[in-house]
Amino acid sequence: MERTLFEPEHDLFRESFRKFLDQHVAAQHEQWEHDGIVDRAVWLEAGKQGFLGMAVPEEYGGGGVKDFRYNAILTEETVRGQYSGLGFTLHNDVIAPYLLDLANEEQKQRWLPGFCSGEMITAIAMTEPGTGSDLQGIKTRAVQDGDDWILNGSKTFITNGINSDIVIVVAQTDPDKGAMGFSLLVVERGMPGFERGRNLDKIGLKAQDTAELSFTDVRVPGKNLLGTRGMGFVHLMQNLPQERLSIAVMAAAAMEACLDMTVQYVRDRKAFGKPIGAQQNTRFVLAELATKTTAVRVFTDRCIELLNQEKLTVEEAAMAKWWSTEEELDLITKCLQLHGGYGYMREFPIAKAYMDARVQTIYGGTTEIMKEIIGRSLKLA
Ligand SMILES: Cc1cc2nc3c(=O)[nH]c(=O)nc-3n(C[C@H](O)[C@H](O)[C@H](O)COP(=O)(O)OP(=O)(O)OC[C@H]3O[C@@H](n4cnc5c(N)ncnc54)[C@H](O)[C@@H]3O)c2cc1C
Repeated sequence: MERTLFEPEHDLFRESFRKFLDQHVAAQHEQWEHDGIVDRAVWLEAGKQGFLGMAVPEEYGGGGVKDFRYNAILTEETVRGQYSGLGFTLHNDVIAPYLLDLANEEQKQRWLPGFCSGEMITAIAMTEPGTGSDLQGIKTRAVQDGDDWILNGSKTFITNGINSDIVIVVAQTDPDKGAMGFSLLVVERGMPGFERGRNLDKIGLKAQDTAELSFTDVRVPGKNLLGTRGMGFVHLMQNLPQERLSIAVMAAAAMEACLDMTVQYVRDRKAFGKPIGAQQNTRFVLAELATKTTAVRVFTDRCIELLNQEKLTVEEAAMAKWWSTEEELDLITKCLQLHGGYGYMREFPIAKAYMDARVQTIYGGTTEIMKEIIGRSLKLA
């Protein structure tokens, strides 16, 4: 189905990002998968070419255009090439809005130029060893000491955890205030007491550094409080829809890529004297998957339009996130089946897609939590 989302300037942007991936990522990504982390140099090159901070005002070194379609293009092309180690999506789609909407002028001047140049890689740390879905269970604690905060606690599963230079940490600051007792503190590389733990060994996203972080009596200056004290959860709630849509965009792109590679495969592969694509089962399975892929694409494109108009609701973003990612897993499993034994071999892209996709229904809020959000809005009880 023809997409009506993009204008000619987006097509040019896509073209140049593809070129960037071909020149600066393609040849190295496999090595980064072995290393469990990407080379920081790729961030600097991305910054130089304008692929970091497209929404950041030009005065801070950004692109000056707040248009999520540019973010979607980066995501789509990264997924299409299976360059799953690049943490640009987290940086641009998840962290940028926190810095743009919550940072004061002094903080913007301190952080945004490096954010856009690629010298300052970012992360956000909500999840802890003991709590993920239930963020009210966060135990990381910051206690005020004069103008500073003394931070203690540990986080896990943090994307860009090793490479990050600043981490937005969700911490409890006012334990007697329940949900209004959490704040966002920006912890910077090199602050005494801030340590990185293991770069975690995942089943997919092999080149992405997903790490444990720990904070022992870290003295965080008061000027690193992001947003308003006690409003941490409100700030998270405002930003999670964009993060969830970003994951849905990944899902739509992965579905298209896997469908394409499978259609090609069943045309070429023969069994019982004819291409396996000539079997009615193959036709029916792929017909269903092509239909679902189109439906996911149309839905996510509409959500992008709504996000750009600042009209995408928390519930709609949750719908996009759970549904697209569950459809993605279903599609990839069925496409892998159509590859037979070759689908199980890591050298085949469908196998890599299978491993990379599995986390999609988990991070950014699980499918079950998305359904809770939607279900609550229906006021059933
Ligand atoms: C590769 C990767 C990258 C990540 N990146 C980041 C990051 O950058 N920053 C960050 O903060 N976190 C990150 N996460 C963490 C991720 O967001 C959490 O793993 C996720 O939110 C689930 O939390 P959990 O792992 O604690 O699972 P749990 O909350 O323990 O859930 C376990 C199971 O119980 C179910 N469950 C829990 N509560 C309910 C309920 N009320 N009703 C029904 N079912 C329920 C869940 O759906 C799930 O199936 C990442 C995780 C991974 C794997």
